[in-house]
Amino acid sequence: ATPAATMVGTTIGAQHGVLFKGGDILERARDVDTVVFDKTGTLTEGEMELTDVVALDGEETAADGGAVAERQRHTEDDVLRLAAAAESGSEHPLARAIVDGAEERGLEIPEPDDFENVPGHGIRATIDGSEVLVGNRKLLEDEGIDPAPAEETMERLEREGKTAMLVAIDGELAGVVADADTVKEGAKEAVAALRERGVEVMMITGDNERTARAVAEQVGIDPDNVRAEVLPEDKSDAVEQIQSDGRKAMMVGDGVNDAPALAVAHVGTAIGSGTDVAIEAADVTLMRSDPQDVVKAIRISDATLQKIK
Ligand code: ADP
Ligand code: MG
Repeated sequence: ATPAATMVGTTIGAQHGVLFKGGDILERARDVDTVVFDKTGTLTEGEMELTDVVALDGEETAADGGAVAERQRHTEDDVLRLAAAAESGSEHPLARAIVDGAEERGLEIPEPDDFENVPGHGIRATIDGSEVLVGNRKLLEDEGIDPAPAEETMERLEREGKTAMLVAIDGELAGVVADADTVKEGAKEAVAALRERGVEVMMITGDNERTARAVAEQVGIDPDNVRAEVLPEDKSDAVEQIQSDGRKAMMVGDGVNDAPALAVAHVGTAIGSGTDVAIEAADVTLMRSDPQDVVKAIRISDATLQKIK
């Protein structure tokens, strides 16, 4: 494109809240044949709310198969109070929702003696001498705790599109808490417009398969195009994998986790309300944080190049 056309395109973009970092990016965007959306904070608001607290039955069959041993029974309030205490040091949106939810229920949240983030899996904390785990199945399995007794509850919540988290107290499965997020206005329309153009639409997330598919269904993304349970450090590999057959992908994301994937994509697009790290790694920033502006970015690129042909 001529410098003049590029200038016009960049200006039109800026007027629509679509910031291109350079003329070369403006030219590249029209070639995008695949758009990979991050889920949380990109297709969804990223403002989680605590929706469910479940205390699991405290009874279990003793190892000898005969007598039923009474495991320490935790109430819903115990489960929530300890989960909130464990999460009180975390900035993760899932964690914030648990803490806010506990406060709204008027629970007294103790200070953790100690806590440790386990990226992509959850949190481990010590509270009043108790070891508390809050996170996904893998987190508990790695500690030798069987998540199976909670499976029915987990699956029910996940089918509703919620992120369900297991809570273990002192080495025993104690309950489940769930957070829900809302799909952004315009997400469904953005997916439809991209597909209309012949662009393949995918979703990538650290969240579990069932939750991810439920959200994909709400926005019109094919379940086969969902990559779930992708660890933060593996997101960029997943994008490289998608591009390995010559596809030109636009990655759209908001989080620190998304930055490497934004960098390797043909075009990296950051959500304006996202983290500075993501915005820095990206080629395009959507100031209005509206997924429909993804389509706008591609159309502006089209228009700019058509004018100069
Ligand atoms: P996302 O890609 O949705 O931002 P993450 O990679 O941060 O997700 O986390 C993946 C999964 O690990 C979450 O869906 C959740 O099950 C678990 N997890 C991560 N952080 C926490 C936390 N602080 N508390 C509980 N669970 C967590
Ligand atoms: Mg995100």
